[in-house]
Amino acid sequence: MIPIAKPFLGEEEAQAAHDAVLSGWVSQGPQVAAFEAEFAEDVGAPHACAVSNCTTALHLACLGLGIGPGDEVITVSHSFIAGANAIRQCGAIPIFVDIEPGGFNIDLDATAAAITSKTRAILCVHQIGMPCDLPGLLAIAQAHNLPLIEDAACAIGSEILIDDTWQAIGRPHGDVACFSFHPRKVITTGEGGMLTTRDAALDARFRLWRQHSMSVSDTARHAAREIVFEDYPELGYNYRMTDIQAAVGRVQLKRLPEIVRRRREIAAQLTESLADIHGAKPPVEPPWARSNWQSYCVTLDPDIDQKRLMQAMLDRGVATRRGIMCMHLEESQADLPMRHDLRRSTYARDHSVLLPVHPLMTDAMVQTVVDALREAVPEARSTVKFLQAMEA
Ligand SMILES: *Cc1c(COP(=O)(O)O)cnc(C)c1O
Repeated sequence: MIPIAKPFLGEEEAQAAHDAVLSGWVSQGPQVAAFEAEFAEDVGAPHACAVSNCTTALHLACLGLGIGPGDEVITVSHSFIAGANAIRQCGAIPIFVDIEPGGFNIDLDATAAAITSKTRAILCVHQIGMPCDLPGLLAIAQAHNLPLIEDAACAIGSEILIDDTWQAIGRPHGDVACFSFHPRKVITTGEGGMLTTRDAALDARFRLWRQHSMSVSDTARHAAREIVFEDYPELGYNYRMTDIQAAVGRVQLKRLPEIVRRRREIAAQLTESLADIHGAKPPVEPPWARSNWQSYCVTLDPDIDQKRLMQAMLDRGVATRRGIMCMHLEESQADLPMRHDLRRSTYARDHSVLLPVHPLMTDAMVQTVVDALREAVPEARSTVKFLQAMEA
């Protein structure tokens, strides 16, 4: 069985966790600080703040940008539920707009058209690792004096071409970028997240809030040679990453170039093989983007039954997942205003499938995926069309 994803963890990560456990410091401490510094360096960000996961990162990003009750945040429906939940945890209202034609990222025209006097921010998603058109989004955001939050949960190692240079997602280009280290992402710490920003004041707020808004951190008190008492000037949260996780993350970060290189090879092999599979279109990587291929999503012809295709592939030992969810179709979000056309989002959910991509896949395994897809596509065409084809 070829799984949809598999974390790339080895002895070195196990040893790092082992050492952290025996170090005498297991909560947020020196390993977290080192992981933050190395992460910031990797993506070219002045500041990186580690947190418990990407959902808490998104929550702090929204809070930091002053998003509060009644405010509107423009975002995609076609994404993981955490985006809307983080906005709503601030009391704000997600305003869903559609994705672009031919891709899975936020549509620029729809974004511009959705801005109202209540709009307080734009939250874009580098969906499954594919960079959004950041210059285009920034032009819209700046024209309306709105901050741009990047949900980069899946996008560590992805790059965008700006001013003739390839730049890592997460510098960030917007005001804040939020990353995830869930095992389904490209590098993992079990659970974990990171906020990057160029704004020192914003970074300081994230650091305060993630540890109960405690004025003097436990690491600072531990190191102090004079007695200091902490206080709690504002409402806080416990969104800390542990040193055990950070120790694992530091090893994962070293492996990132190798992981992304292999993912890109696999994606290229898939795209090449898909050229002659009629009915399943490969994803499009714009010339100014380099995905980390967190996921590889093919779009199906309208007459192909998604579930039957997935079953036919599973029967051949290949796991798949349906296209990215649509938040606006979930009961938990049913009370939100639905002002905008979301047809491309719904189509993408119901007519696309994610194929397995992980760095431990061999070329032969990639070929197995391709063969399974090639056989499954005709089987999954709607019966009427299939019979018509048989008669012809
Ligand atoms: C995975 C994911 C999240 C949530 O990340 P966690 O670390 O699990 O909280 C948020 N947004 C997107 C787009 C994701 O893919």
